Amino acid sequence: MPSLPSADPYLPGHGDPSYAVRHYDLDLAYVPDGNRLSGTAVLDLVAREQTARLVLDLAHLRVSKLRLEGARLKKWSAREHRLVLQLDRPVGPDTPLRLTVTYGGSPKPLVDRHHGDAGWEELEDGVIVAAQPHGAPTWFPCNDRADDKATYRIVLAAPAGYTVVSNGTLAAHQRRAGGESWTWVMDRPMATYLATVQIGRYATTEHDRRTRTIAPPDADLADSFDQQPAMLAFFERVFGPYPFDAYAAVITDDDLEIPLESQSLSTFGRNFCSSDWEQVRLIAHELAHQWFGNAVTLRRWQDIWLHEGFACYAEWLWSEESGGPRTCDEWARHHHDRLTDLPQDLLLADPGPELMFDDRVYKRGALALHALRVAVGEDAFFGVLRDWASSRAGESVTTDDFLAFASAHTGADVAAVLRPWLYDVALPGFPQA
Ligand SMILES: [Zn+2]
Repeated sequence: MPSLPSADPYLPGHGDPSYAVRHYDLDLAYVPDGNRLSGTAVLDLVAREQTARLVLDLAHLRVSKLRLEGARLKKWSAREHRLVLQLDRPVGPDTPLRLTVTYGGSPKPLVDRHHGDAGWEELEDGVIVAAQPHGAPTWFPCNDRADDKATYRIVLAAPAGYTVVSNGTLAAHQRRAGGESWTWVMDRPMATYLATVQIGRYATTEHDRRTRTIAPPDADLADSFDQQPAMLAFFERVFGPYPFDAYAAVITDDDLEIPLESQSLSTFGRNFCSSDWEQVRLIAHELAHQWFGNAVTLRRWQDIWLHEGFACYAEWLWSEESGGPRTCDEWARHHHDRLTDLPQDLLLADPGPELMFDDRVYKRGALALHALRVAVGEDAFFGVLRDWASSRAGESVTTDDFLAFASAHTGADVAAVLRPWLYDVALPGFPQA
């Protein structure tokens, strides 16, 4: 049997480089009692090369019907969390195809050797989808690659009494037999792992025109989530315009170990309703991912510092701005001291799949940005961040892209400044002017 493709060495067994998805249209129904998900996914694809085979990712769910338009399907089969479609004859590059998949079952997280569980997860009374990096196939058939961005329409029907939150804008909310249907539209390009649905017994607090918190009715948002409009306004000053139409924090009734960003929303547990800096910093962190990670997304997982280093630096900036425990420079010194005492065996620009979410990626990534700021000065540094976020929004990028961009923007040899941080394992000295 021929082996199945992988798009990224950090995520073996996911993604097919031979085609791209332009749009996902998901029409789903969910019954919490018994955890049953069913529906139809319509994928608009285009071949990127000549190919007679298309491989999709779908885990734990059963396909009852599959139809392909634009080419003749010879046969299809399900194996190893993949759907393998064999075409009658090869299609050429740029051939548009439409695939309709009818499927269902009991969704559950997908376990990965390096990254543990990700994806569709039942709560006490509701659902979260926390898909980074490999959980998207737990709820829809997809080309599960961070660099294959598409637009989405996500319709999900659930029993009355539940609020359903997904990416983008709520385009419709209607009564249906036995429940309610929620239609969400994400019209900006989105990576599969950033697609999500959140289902729970929630109330919505509108902080302002585009910032809201969706939480259990008795959740206390004071001095924590109610700071989000101020955070968003500050990040717009330093990072440029917010890249999506609106932003939501979803707070689950259950406690969650860590929060997680999705495109245009983030998910937190009830335990994050706290004015403690350790919680507030993560509210800022997840919001900052909307610029760095969601609008501008890595092409390869090895460049995860382009997400986490930037979001961590945003925490330090917000601490200084909001009168938090330390200024940005103090945080940089604090974490440089701490990293000095930790093993120096991590390559920031290629940490390996087992260390890609290691805290040293976050802190050293933020320190690399601090080094850039010290080297090029305030105006040039924040100019780089703003123009990088706005000019690359919707795209997939690499570390080399960032180095070339920052060098062109500042006229400085940014690669020389950042190389020791990115490509040496030894920790460089603290950046001094
Ligand atoms: Zn993060």
